[in-house]
Amino acid sequence: MNYFPIFIDITQKSCLVVGGGDIAYRKINLLLKANAQITCVSPACCDGVIQLAKDNKINLLTKAFEASDVTTQMLIVSATDDAALNTQVSELAKTANIPVNVVDSPDLCSFVMPSIVDRSPIVIAISSAGKAPVLARLIRAKLESSIPNAYGKLATLAGNFRGQVKAKFSHIEDRRYFWEKAFSGVVAEKVFAGKVEEAQADLQAQLDGSTDSDIGEVYLVGGGPGDPDLLTFKALRLMQQADVILYDRLVSDEVMELVRRDAELIYVGKERDNHSVPQDGINQLLVDLARQGRRVCRLKGGDPFIFGRGGEEIETLAENNIPFQVVPGITAASGCSTYSGIPLTHRDYSQSCRFVTGHLKDGSMNLPWSELAVEQQTIVFYMALKGAQHLSEQLQAHGMRGDMPVALVEKGTTPEHKVHTTSLAQLPDLVANETIHAPTLIIVGEVVKLREKLNWFDAKKPS
Ligand code: SAH
Repeated sequence: MNYFPIFIDITQKSCLVVGGGDIAYRKINLLLKANAQITCVSPACCDGVIQLAKDNKINLLTKAFEASDVTTQMLIVSATDDAALNTQVSELAKTANIPVNVVDSPDLCSFVMPSIVDRSPIVIAISSAGKAPVLARLIRAKLESSIPNAYGKLATLAGNFRGQVKAKFSHIEDRRYFWEKAFSGVVAEKVFAGKVEEAQADLQAQLDGSTDSDIGEVYLVGGGPGDPDLLTFKALRLMQQADVILYDRLVSDEVMELVRRDAELIYVGKERDNHSVPQDGINQLLVDLARQGRRVCRLKGGDPFIFGRGGEEIETLAENNIPFQVVPGITAASGCSTYSGIPLTHRDYSQSCRFVTGHLKDGSMNLPWSELAVEQQTIVFYMALKGAQHLSEQLQAHGMRGDMPVALVEKGTTPEHKVHTTSLAQLPDLVANETIHAPTLIIVGEVVKLREKLNWFDAKKPS
């Protein structure tokens, strides 16, 4: 370790910033976050620094730096573009045993300013010892995206209960067990959902032993159409904390790669017309697993509330008083159209968009065809490969032009993403003559033409 990381209390402590430009301004703002009392010395300053002085947030000395400015400071930051001055500040500070940081000059520093992930009171500091600050910033960006904003609130809540928990459990092991449960279960999830008061009541009840704290929780999570980069932060977090994952055919292998390594995986099928676990069985399994105290992630393709039967699954949970939360996902219509360069709406071609199921029941689809066969509208058919001929015939029978553009998207957003464009009249021939791999989505509307110009995703793939 080149530098030893510590966190210093600088509340109301004197800190000196030499320089008044944009970089100094950024450093001042960081120090202000920790409530430092700042003196800034510079003959000229940027507007931000001048405004801070006007607002009495800092003490501004509009003059050149002098050795006598290095008095009883707790920290000194030099942020000027004058190398000689930076060296002078560094030497004076070191002689006076005051920690000094000179921006972008590791050799002149006795301390470095890390990249910070601020979830106060939780603070994470990342340093590359001045060797690769950009890399430290990239690591910071990763952490920013994977640590929920509300961790700070969770830590504050825990702080309020610390005394009580210590009084109740004399053994450190028991305390640890209590907190681990709180931080990875319903209490934490309630804080993340902004329900801090409810979380506080739950924590109190768990402490008082007046609740069944052994009940688990179900996360109904939308896994998106295939590309794992399309997962939400929340989906990823819950996938990585669940003990059990129930998934079906539509969840891509790449998305499954991201679930917790040691989670139990249960495949519940949902092949077309061949459900390996019937829907009632899935609903009941979710209830049973949660009752065993497990955190269950029900991972679905796309969005759980769009042709996903997500509503039915959580209805059973609600009836059984099992805590649950739902995480939306990018639905196939959004993912497939975007990756195919087909905007679902467009000022010139389509003012509305309808998502419909093309699932055949007894050889036909029960759809309001005359509402669908209109101009200036995009229709997205899910589950419609087998019914392609039927939908083509019905739309035309209800007045839609046979030359209406149609796109059939295979395995959208995955590395095997493939788009076939045709016309409404030609769609049955396409399906009959080409080898097509499920899952597929059918987009009908003038917007399909825009793909010629806007295709960006598979256009880049090497042929
Ligand atoms: N809840 C899902 C839809 C489930 S219905 C969602 O919001 O996307 C299943 C249908 O979705 C499939 O038959 C197919 O029509 C469509 N679908 C799902 N993923 C797809 C993908 N990657 N490419 C093309 N179609 C897809």
